[in-house]
Amino acid sequence: MSEQGGAWSDWLAIYEQAYASPTALREQACPRCAARELSLVFTERSVGGDGYANLWCGHCLHGIHVSRSLIPEGATVIPRGSTAEQENLVIPDCRLVWPDGDDGEQHENESEVF
Ligand SMILES: [Zn+2]
Repeated sequence: MSEQGGAWSDWLAIYEQAYASPTALREQACPRCAARELSLVFTERSVGGDGYANLWCGHCLHGIHVSRSLIPEGATVIPRGSTAEQENLVIPDCRLVWPDGDDGEQHENESEVF
């Protein structure tokens, strides 16, 4: 299984730039398919203003999740308490890219111990 292009580090670099300057995302090409259809949306998880980031390409439908991010000023946010349905209206069903070729099946539950 080899994923050509669009390594985690490429996505993360774009995320970091978009985080610092949300409008710069429009100038960024997808690391996988080079389309300029990237979106960054934050899912709010707490009143403290943190949540996780969803970065994806609307063309090839690949992307990443970045957990525990502080939501930056002016970002697109899915408010706390939204249903999965509401979330799906904003975020399409994407194939997630994980660090180091990890398939990342159950990354949501980091508390699980082997
Ligand atoms: Zn793409």
